[in-house]
Amino acid sequence: MTVLGCIADDFTGATDLAGLLARSGYPVSLRIGVPDSPPQDPAPFEVIALKCRTAPLADAVKDTRAALKWLQAAGARRFFWKYCSTFDSTPQGNIGPVAEALMDDLGTAQTIYCPAFPENGRTVFMGNLFVGQQPLAESPMKDHPLTPMRDSNLMRLLAPQVIGRVGLVDRPTVARGADALRAALDGLAQHGAAHVVVDAVADADLGRIATACQDMALMTGGSALAMPLPALYRAAGLLGDSDARGARAKVGAGAVILSGSCSAMTRAQVAVYQGPKFRLDPLDLAKDDAGAAQEWLAAQDLARAPLIYATAEPEAVAKAQAQLGQAEAGAIVEKALAELAIAARDKGARRIVVAGGETSGAVTQALGVTRLDIGAEIAPGVPWTYATSAGHPIALTLKSGNFGAESFFTDALRVLEDT
Ligand code: ADP
Repeated sequence: MTVLGCIADDFTGATDLAGLLARSGYPVSLRIGVPDSPPQDPAPFEVIALKCRTAPLADAVKDTRAALKWLQAAGARRFFWKYCSTFDSTPQGNIGPVAEALMDDLGTAQTIYCPAFPENGRTVFMGNLFVGQQPLAESPMKDHPLTPMRDSNLMRLLAPQVIGRVGLVDRPTVARGADALRAALDGLAQHGAAHVVVDAVADADLGRIATACQDMALMTGGSALAMPLPALYRAAGLLGDSDARGARAKVGAGAVILSGSCSAMTRAQVAVYQGPKFRLDPLDLAKDDAGAAQEWLAAQDLARAPLIYATAEPEAVAKAQAQLGQAEAGAIVEKALAELAIAARDKGARRIVVAGGETSGAVTQALGVTRLDIGAEIAPGVPWTYATSAGHPIALTLKSGNFGAESFFTDALRVLEDT
């Protein structure tokens, strides 16, 4: 039975949340989209990854309602709506409207909003969100292409997104502890405050908030707020003991690394990798598909974890984009890496490392993966996951852009050896 049902507004956000919950050692299962079939063997922590951060509002609400239904069928009675720790949203939503729809369906009158992630420099004070030492609206988020954040005050950001009243529990109250926080929430409820922003500047604050709010039908926030919940549920008798090791499965030894990320850290990771490597050039792919890469892969020993990468410096990316168009260049690379993932699996690769957020989406889709059971953490925010592809158990890790150390690829394969 599922104890906590989580809905995340994008894929890497879902991975981040699933990874943090899995630190508890309890089984965590990540679903890519709302599953088509009813829950079978659900994990105590279920995370459904949606792609609804900037989707049309009606679609976002429809998807989250469907996700809620599925999680309720899995047994969940407590729910977590997870969004970015920089509160990425447009003036219309979708953070507030989705929360309001979930509250309606759950018949609950109040929820909290806490995007704070102190370990990553996201803190909330007097309702204002900070990124490191900068207010949100002065951080690089002010220039985000899809969700530029031009106000740092969460109450002002939230109010136009919701129908219900917005309130605040400030840090001095949170610092006094869970009981004071609970009393403040009750007081706000009496004044009709349905949407309460809660300050947090340190992990201890998140612990107090989770303690005070653990029985709420709906909590909303960044991934860090969910981290204390497994231990609290265990103390409340909702969960048995964990084995503290996360999911593990016997998977074959063959490995492959596929990289479509051009982020600075991925470029360094590709550069230092000592195993066999093959570089994909989008201009060649546009002419001849991935034939040369397929031939190269067919001749490789998967025990040596060959790396196939489109990862390139900004000048090379710009050149490919100038000739092919930005979207087309990306699509060509994603298609090639997706095909190569299938070929590698069919050749026996059971340990698959993928670099790049969009690339991960393309590869998981090609492999027909819809459920990922979270395993050991390789780097903060990047766990191994276990899945089934064409009937084969596989281990898959999906690393977005700047995550992981330079030695990430070898780190990943070593972590799997150790588990
Ligand atoms: P990240 O997580 O680093 O942002 P993504 O996979 O999300 O990585 O995005 C990288 C995008 O760049 C993908 O769409 C990928 O197909 C594309 N891409 C990769 N290599 C190249 C290249 N050499 N030229 C142009 N586009 C590329």
